[in-house]
Amino acid sequence: MKAIIKDKPVQGAAWRETDMPKVGPKDVLIKVKVGAICGSDVHIYEWDSWAQSVVPGLPQILGHEFAGEVVEVGKAVHHLKPGDHVAGETHIPCDNCYFCLTGQRHICTGMKVYGVHSQGIFSEYTTVPEPCAVKIPPQIPFVAAAVWSHAG
Ligand SMILES: [Zn+2]
Ligand SMILES: [Zn+2]
Repeated sequence: MKAIIKDKPVQGAAWRETDMPKVGPKDVLIKVKVGAICGSDVHIYEWDSWAQSVVPGLPQILGHEFAGEVVEVGKAVHHLKPGDHVAGETHIPCDNCYFCLTGQRHICTGMKVYGVHSQGIFSEYTTVPEPCAVKIPPQIPFVAAAVWSHAG
């Protein structure tokens, strides 16, 4: 698949072929329909000191605000199915800290953001953990859902 990849520790990014993401048991594989550009994508593109301090390693696919269509789900996914439209919830809770284990994942102490701390979504396909794919009604345009994803 094609993706926008930060591949060198200098300003810029590359549009090139990369491997399809693997779908873990708790993951959802999504055909990305729309991606929005966030300020943090610009920081990573510019490769400023903030980007250098948070990105764990290169190469990394940029982007984290998106909407798309589910094409495959892992064995342990029960609330989504192929064909569902979803908006990305950009935060990945750790599922292991006090807050996650007491139903307060939104204030997880180990919170990660995909496209910053992990592979992003400026690609034809992406995988995210099931809680990070929020089902939306099909009449909501993907472009509106992609922008919403940042507020989620
Ligand atoms: Zn953002
Ligand atoms: Zn947590």
